[in-house]
Order: sequence, then C-alpha cells, then structure tokens
Amino acid sequence: MARHKEYPLLMELGAPGRRAYLLPELDIPARPIDELIPSANLRTDPAPLPELSELEVVRHFIGLSRRNHGVDVGFYPLGSCTMKYNPKVNEDLAFDPGFANLHPYQPEQTVQGALQLMYELEQYLCEIAGLDRATLTPAAGAHGELTGLMLIKAYQAARGEGHRNEIIIPDSAHGTNPASAAMCGYKVVEVASNSRGGVCVDALQEIVGPQTAGLMLTNPNTLGLFEEDILTISEVVHAAGGLLYYDGANANAILGKCRPGDMGFDVVHFNLHKTFSTPHGGGGPGSGPIAVRETLVPFLPIPIVERRERVQTAGADLGERQEEFFLDYNRPQSIGKIKGFHGNFLVMIRAYAYIRSMGPEGLRQASEDAVLAANYLMRELSASYDLPYDRICKHEFVLSAKQQKAEGVTAQDIAKRLLDYGMHAPTVYFPLIVEEALMVEPTETESKAALDEFVQVMTAIAREVKESPEQVRTAPHHTVVGRLDETQAARHPVVRWREEIE
Ligand SMILES: *Cc1c(COP(=O)(O)O)cnc(C)c1O
Repeated sequence: MARHKEYPLLMELGAPGRRAYLLPELDIPARPIDELIPSANLRTDPAPLPELSELEVVRHFIGLSRRNHGVDVGFYPLGSCTMKYNPKVNEDLAFDPGFANLHPYQPEQTVQGALQLMYELEQYLCEIAGLDRATLTPAAGAHGELTGLMLIKAYQAARGEGHRNEIIIPDSAHGTNPASAAMCGYKVVEVASNSRGGVCVDALQEIVGPQTAGLMLTNPNTLGLFEEDILTISEVVHAAGGLLYYDGANANAILGKCRPGDMGFDVVHFNLHKTFSTPHGGGGPGSGPIAVRETLVPFLPIPIVERRERVQTAGADLGERQEEFFLDYNRPQSIGKIKGFHGNFLVMIRAYAYIRSMGPEGLRQASEDAVLAANYLMRELSASYDLPYDRICKHEFVLSAKQQKAEGVTAQDIAKRLLDYGMHAPTVYFPLIVEEALMVEPTETESKAALDEFVQVMTAIAREVKESPEQVRTAPHHTVVGRLDETQAARHPVVRWREEIE
C-alpha cells in the first residue's frame, strides 16, 4: 500500500490576490481583449491557477526537491548505474550561453567551437575504447546498442552475409541487450555462465555458427567480474564470422586500464551519463556514443564531424584558423539518421570537461579507486551476506540475501530498510542468475568514511533481520512515500497536476 505523508499540492497553496511578480504600468493604448484574441477562443471563467508569493513558490519546490534522494544528498550505491558525484564545474560549462544557446540549424562557420568539441570528444572516446571512429548521436545506452547492432547488420549485409540472424547474449546480461537485439530483428540466443561467473566457452562453441551475427558482452560483466576468457571468446566468435559488441554503459573499471578494442570488440557503446560524469536518473537526458573498428566506419550514422583545410577565399579574414570542422552527410553506406540533429550536446560538454580535467592519469586513478572501493565493501559485507562469486571484483559486486530470505526477509525488504538510514538502495534482483541479488557499486567518489558508514548500516540491517525482522519487512518507516505499486508507477505515472473536469 502506498503511504503518503500529507504534502499540499501547489494548487492548494496561496490565496486570491497574492503575486510573485509586478508588471510595469501599461504605457501604450490598451486594446480590447477580443480584438487580440478571437472571441471563440476566449475563456469565460478565469483559469483555476494558484496565486502565490515568490517565497511560497520557492519553498514549495525546494520542499519537493528535499523529499527526493540524489547523489548530492547521500550515498547511492546503485550497481550498474554508476551514480558517481558529478563536479558542478561541468554544469557551469554546459550552461555557458555560448554552448547552451546554440541552434542546430546555425551555419557551421558560427559553431566551430562546438564542432571541435564533438570532434575531440570522439577522439578521446576512441582512444579509451581502442577503436577507430565513433558517433556521438545515440541518446542513451540502449539507443547506442540498437545503433551498434544496425551497423553490424549493415556491414554483414554489404558482405553478402545478411542471413546471419542470431545475437548471442550471456545469461548475466543487462536487460537492454536482448531487447535491443530483438528490436533490431535478431533472434537472441542465450549462452550460460560458468561457475566463476564468466561466459562458458564450451557452451559458446556449441552455439556459434554461420547464423551468428555477433555476441554482446559486458566486461567486467554485471557481476562485476572481468571475463577471464575474453581473448578466446573473441577468437571463437570471429572465427565463426560474427562480430563482438561491448556494452560499455558502465566503463568505470577499465578507464586507462584496458581497452575493449584490444580485447577484440568491434563495437562499443559508452554511457556518458554513467561513466563520464553527467547527472542522470529520472529519465535523462543521456548520451550513448558508440565507437567502432575501421571496417564498420562507412556505416556510421550521419552526420559525423570531420575536419578539413579551410578553403581560402580572396579577401576574407582568415584569422588564426587554418582548418575547419564540418558535418559530413556525404556517406553513401551510412545507416542514415538515428536521431534528430546531433545528439544531446550539453551532455557531451560535461563528458568533454570531465575527460579533459581528469586527463589520462586521472581517469586511470578513478577506475583504480572505484575498484578498490568495491573490493573493500565486498570483503566487509561478506561477513553478513552471501557472496556467490568470491573473486576479486571490478567496480561493482553482487551479494545474495539468501540467508536473510531463509529468515523471511527479502533483498527488496533490505533495500527498503536502507532508505530509512538515508542511503539509496543497491540494484536488486539483477543480474537474474543470482538469487535475491543486491548489486552494489560504490564508485570512486566516496570517502572511506562513507564506505564504512554503509558497512555499519548493512551490518545493522543484517542484525535486525535476526532480531526484529518485522522492522525490515515493513520498511521504509521514515520516508515520505512507503512501498509503491511499482507496476502502476511505471505504467501509469502521474507526473503532473491536471484540472479535474466534471
Ligand atoms: C545502464 C545500462 C544500460 C542501458 O543504458 P541506458 O542509458 O539506460 O539506455 C545497458 N547496459 C548496462 C550494463 C547498463 O548498466
């Protein structure tokens, strides 16, 4: 049952005659309203809008924002999603009027800086991926997946191998992987994991063949484990004529440490809104660029940003610039456009600023710290929770609340109880291959003190499960909203006020 503590709607606040603004006196002749608006369109009754002072409006919205949890408020170990702290300076840059007020139809000569930023960001992402070219256009990870698979399809069709219709996906995969493959018209074939949490190579060998279009893999996978057999896997798939797709939504463990291209992957997507420091949640905006190997470059969506020598025109002021950037639409083998305009540009600015300010050393350090933090938590928490894959993990790890389930308390209950302690819950019930899964990703941005506090809280909850299980089963007790009907909330969200019409 949903339990709402009373909080007034904006509509219920204020009183007639209150104002948050004062318009200057009219200093032109007034004209009758029905000269300005056709009388058929004029309303007969005033709109039922609240009348409030500025202070009331500010308190209302600040009050609402304080009822939410975010990484700026507290610990947010949401595995797979990389809820790291996002430096505020990146926000400042993204809101710089020189960027924020650009229009995608502006002439290229007037947006050279923006194009240069996109060009360089593409190069950085290619360097991180170990691949050749990239498109920045996809609006999210899942959109990148679809785009990457469309490239694989176009490439194979161009080679007369359009009959390849299967994408192999491990049973530990993120749910978007099979969904994207199915949306791209592929048949999804599942490959089992082995006892160490990696892809079972024997099982893979059984299912690859002339029908294989490719394999989609996350490495480290959603268990937070590095795929030990990745080079063998790559050989097996390539030998069968398939390509390798890397789900790099969460690349927080590998920056500057290893590169998907070197592992044998042909296509990679990154989530700028996870790894590269863009606030996310609540549905966007995101950005899921994909990087590809040379062989796939001709098929990239249009446009891509290119650089050329600046054409010299007599008498023109050439300034310092010898070269110019332009949007290349002349790409005959391209799969075409995958989105309006050029992607979520303001997200690219944040990612660019993040990469430039961290530098190669800083990115490597971030990954090392993320991995260290995860291993520290994993060891500490394995005292109170089951650890199904007891191996050194990368940026995240998966616990099982199996012991607690035996006491009648589920992973969901534990997640809800964490909210009472002012912490966000980990990802639960994912990956599907772990019973009562709790997937924890602390990220590199938390201090040891914050990690220790999480350990204390999780340990306290494990004790509560033994001593006062009802307390955990009925949590949360201190949040604004209790347990929601998640299906209703997802399918029929009520996100704005509507006037009730009789
Ligand atoms: C988040 C995530 C995705 C999907 O990314 P969206 O931007 O939410 O579409 C895909 N794979 C993995 C491993 C992820 O963590």
